[in-house]
Amino acid sequence: KIIFLFSAIMIMGLGYMVFILNRSSKVKSNLNRTLKTQNLELTKAKETAEQLSQMKTRFINTVSHELRTPLYAVIGVTGMLMDDDILYKKRKEPLDALRLSSDYLLRLVNDILELGKLEGGKAKTKQLNFRIDQLLREMCSSFKSIALDNNNKLHVNYGKDTELELQGDVFRIQRILMNLVGNALKYTINGNVYIHVQTLKTIEKDGMYLSIAIEDDGIGIPPERQNEIFNEFSQLERNTSTFKGSGLGLSIAKKLVHLLNGTISLTSEPNKGSTFTVQLPIVKAVDEVPLCQKSNLDNPHKEYKVLIVDDNRINRLVTKNILEKNNFETVAAQNGKEAVDLFLEQKFDLILMDLNMPVMDGYTASKTIRSYDNEIPIIALTANDMESIVDKVMDAGLDDIITKPYDNVQFFQTILKNLDKKKSIKGIVDNLIKERGT
Ligand code: ADP
Repeated sequence: KIIFLFSAIMIMGLGYMVFILNRSSKVKSNLNRTLKTQNLELTKAKETAEQLSQMKTRFINTVSHELRTPLYAVIGVTGMLMDDDILYKKRKEPLDALRLSSDYLLRLVNDILELGKLEGGKAKTKQLNFRIDQLLREMCSSFKSIALDNNNKLHVNYGKDTELELQGDVFRIQRILMNLVGNALKYTINGNVYIHVQTLKTIEKDGMYLSIAIEDDGIGIPPERQNEIFNEFSQLERNTSTFKGSGLGLSIAKKLVHLLNGTISLTSEPNKGSTFTVQLPIVKAVDEVPLCQKSNLDNPHKEYKVLIVDDNRINRLVTKNILEKNNFETVAAQNGKEAVDLFLEQKFDLILMDLNMPVMDGYTASKTIRSYDNEIPIIALTANDMESIVDKVMDAGLDDIITKPYDNVQFFQTILKNLDKKKSIKGIVDNLIKERGT
């Protein structure tokens, strides 16, 4: 009886186990199937996300190029019209409005593109050598007319023992400072804007950070709004009807500061002024090729011959006009192939090279020219986004980049800096020859 009972319990137990095993294997295979489908869906989603991200980058680059090219023409031709004194006297108001609107449009396009890149999480930092004093000098001269508009004075102070030759993401640093200094000048009238610069040691050994405070004695920001102004499209209502901005400047500055592992802070009092302080980790410049070199040439009033390479007729006209107005001699080519042919026929002091061109692009043309001549400065003059092309440009042997549309002061500074480099290399060679008596 006991054996029977025991066997019955065993059989029931076994049966139950078989049932459970069977069920769990069914559940498992169901789960496996679901997992497989989910895996497939995830892979598909990942592929779509990657495709979308690539499309976005392509979109940003194309939009950047396609918008900046006609903007270069609009800004350039406006400048040409404004340079005509008689016409300017007659049509001052519409011409000023045209300049204001095109400048605003350019800033807006640049801001939206920058934000797109930052939000995509794809922005990479690029370490380059630079001189902070030179960066600020160039920036101040490009702000000259904005400072004059509001009757402001712009001052730069360097703290004790400040390192000037640094290595960091100079384009990003420049962008952050442009936005903050631009705001300080915009929201201050009949006042002063101070840029206080200092490099400081961190507690950790050999660590250093760059501290830049932008102080103005302008309209200030009420305490309860000081957080919100760092949000996208956030603007405090002001009683003004002219274009002031898009409300993107500070949010871009903040995102860039975070990308560079730094901090940004604000102290402000209404009607007294504001101070934005940026602190960024930085290192001393390590090798001998600073991106920005001081130019010894004070003005471009010397006869240099420049080869302009651009497939866009209006852009060629604008570049030619601005150079010739400053006593440069110019020759123009419509594509890379024409540029190489002209280079082999004539002697030039410098080449301004567009990059995207039919027949032969600027990279190939520069490489070809470099195979004949290692010294002639070749500067990329392009509507592309600087960051996305910098490696390719340097690989092709070009020396520098100017992005269209440019600020005239920066345009000439870059040209002179590169002509100067050539002159100093030549100067060194001449001296060596003299010393050797050969
Ligand atoms: P905007 O393009 O409007 O200048 P920002 O993002 O750069 O956009 O700034 C957001 C808002 O913060 C501005 O609209 C302005 O009201 C305020 N602001 C920024 N900087 C200053 C400053 N230095 N002084 C006073 N207000 C400022």
